[in-house]
Amino acid sequence: MEKDLIDFIAKSIELTFNAISRVETLNLDILFAYDQERKQYNSTSILAYLKPNTEKGSYSLAITKRDLYTNNSTFVFGEAEVGGRVGIVSLARLSIDPRELYKIIVLKEVTHELGHILGLRHCETNYCVMSFSTNLKEVEQKSFKFCPDCAHSLVYLAAF
Ligand SMILES: [Zn+2]
Ligand SMILES: [Zn+2]
Repeated sequence: MEKDLIDFIAKSIELTFNAISRVETLNLDILFAYDQERKQYNSTSILAYLKPNTEKGSYSLAITKRDLYTNNSTFVFGEAEVGGRVGIVSLARLSIDPRELYKIIVLKEVTHELGHILGLRHCETNYCVMSFSTNLKEVEQKSFKFCPDCAHSLVYLAAF
């Protein structure tokens, strides 16, 4: 994973969530999640692996270059346990130029999955980072921020 991307994501997360981020390289063999026919990795299986390996009181958000799917979708940009502790984002379908735009696109997906981890569901407000995106264009169109309703819910959820 490129250092400029990871540094940018880690710093942005700290600002958005007022949290401390720690970057770790997982030399994890995710072959157990690989589907030979689809040539994709099952994100739900990876989350199940990450969960018991996440320290109490912290959250894990994995980033991979592998293409991910779930049992009810052909591919996913990411998946997270709503109100849970773990999430994952795939970079496989996020390629876009220039680099600065690419970093923002990745940040949107990371923020989206972290929002799920913290208990948020999909949002109907189309510019909100919690709106559901089915393609890269939709990711491009939404902002990297939470709408006022989601931001309010986050503060409320964080209090419990
Ligand atoms: Zn989502
Ligand atoms: Zn929202």
